[in-house]
Amino acid sequence: MSEPVPFQAVFNGRVPAPQLDANGTPRRGCPLSDLRDRLRRAGLRPTRQRLSLGWLLFGRGDRHLTAEMLYDEAMRAKVPVSLATVYNTLHQFTEAGLLRQLALDGSKAYFDTNPSEHHHFYLEDESQVIDMPDCGITVDSLPEAPEGMEIAGVEVIVRLRRARPNARRQS
Ligand SMILES: [Zn+2]
Repeated sequence: MSEPVPFQAVFNGRVPAPQLDANGTPRRGCPLSDLRDRLRRAGLRPTRQRLSLGWLLFGRGDRHLTAEMLYDEAMRAKVPVSLATVYNTLHQFTEAGLLRQLALDGSKAYFDTNPSEHHHFYLEDESQVIDMPDCGITVDSLPEAPEGMEIAGVEVIVRLRRARPNARRQS
């Protein structure tokens, strides 16, 4: 994955916001004005901090990251934020429906820049999350929701690890 154009340079108008990625996919560019609109539509004031973190988050297509990963990117892009601000912003974006928090393991929260319902593979050895292809799974039978409740969504996480050759049965 290529490094994003530094937010500061785009913000100050020195560099035009990228519109296309290497494959010509338009979404990855995420021009700044779109991001402003997106924040406003989600009911969030487009502050400089939200814009700069949003730029890093949404400027590179669908992906999954932790607060620490975003903080590292912010440091590399010379965006002056604290880790606490990164946490707060991620939670505000999640509450506003711009991100989805994934329940993977207790110690680390992963955030998905694609908030629509989809399923995931989790590579345990590498702590990496990847989207499952659309046709990857069907859930046919769900329990009835308890009285007064309805099912809001179904999220499947399939945990993967490297196949262990020794465990393979001899044929
Ligand atoms: Zn995902």
